[in-house]
Amino acid sequence: MPHAGYGRKVQAKLTRYDRMMARRRPKKGQPASKGYREAKKLRAKAYKKAARQRQDTGRKWAKKVVRDHDAIAVEDFRPKFLARTTMARKAADAAIGATKAALVAMGRKHGRDIRLVHPAYTTMDCAHCDARAKHRLPLGERTYTCAVCGTVSSRDKNSARVMLVRAGLNPAGADGGRPPGALLQEAA
Ligand SMILES: [Zn+2]
Repeated sequence: MPHAGYGRKVQAKLTRYDRMMARRRPKKGQPASKGYREAKKLRAKAYKKAARQRQDTGRKWAKKVVRDHDAIAVEDFRPKFLARTTMARKAADAAIGATKAALVAMGRKHGRDIRLVHPAYTTMDCAHCDARAKHRLPLGERTYTCAVCGTVSSRDKNSARVMLVRAGLNPAGADGGRPPGALLQEAA
């Protein structure tokens, strides 16, 4: 996965223009000042640039993935940016959405086997024995330990394997060497 979110530079710019707009915001019933309109324009421009960068990053990454893999499992989630409020979170969601769209489009164009995987419980199921954990792993916990079969593996590797199995792909190569399928998951 490419780095999610805006580039640091663009992010700084957006924050700066947000502040500028806040400072110049017209009082109720007053027309917007020239300065306010200017700040608004600058912000819109920076925002557009961020969107372009995001698409570009997504496309580059998708190209590489499609070149290296024959089958690709994509978690079938919808970015939840409408439900979230902070800007960093929105940016991350938008980046994942753009990346997913680029990957699916690129994969189809090049005749790759794209499989959308149901997104529920990919971090709770055991890839080894298929048991489902009773509780969600806390975000900071990077290790998945199965209470049923005792398998211990990294959280990311386990959920990657769960996805590959659900997609009907062979997860055997996911540990090293050339994986049989590529993955795109929402950050969990
Ligand atoms: Zn297990």
